[in-house]
Amino acid sequence: MSHRIGQGYDIHKLVIGRELILGGVKIPSKMGPVAHSDGDVLVHAICDGLLGALSLGDIGKYFPDSDPKFKNISSLVLLERVWGMVKEKGWELVNLDSTVVLQEPKIFKYIPKMRNNLSKVLGTEVGNISVKATTSEGLKSGGKDSWRCGF
Ligand code: MG
Repeated sequence: MSHRIGQGYDIHKLVIGRELILGGVKIPSKMGPVAHSDGDVLVHAICDGLLGALSLGDIGKYFPDSDPKFKNISSLVLLERVWGMVKEKGWELVNLDSTVVLQEPKIFKYIPKMRNNLSKVLGTEVGNISVKATTSEGLKSGGKDSWRCGF
């Protein structure tokens, strides 16, 4: 088989006073996600997409939120480990497409840096990495004050 495709999804509750980190970029925001790690919902979804493509399970299998080792860990480190598993099995990335659904703040100006961070970890050209952003049009898609990311 020459191609495999995976999809990932993640959602976190937002609260006042937590840092908002997406694609490894700290984004000024009054709210951030409740999470055991740094709560980088975009990177979590990408990890799940990569693992899913190879039927390797999900991010929780390898980095359980009950393990103190992963407390506040940068999710880019988790992505590095997941990417290591993918490479070990001899697979390469063709391209990555993702969508962040977030009501506020607007994140478009941070997307180039996110793409750059992701391309570095995944060892590919930035042109192979797509990050898109949309709002949920004010709808509470996954519960009160929640946000989500698809990959
Ligand atoms: Mg998550």
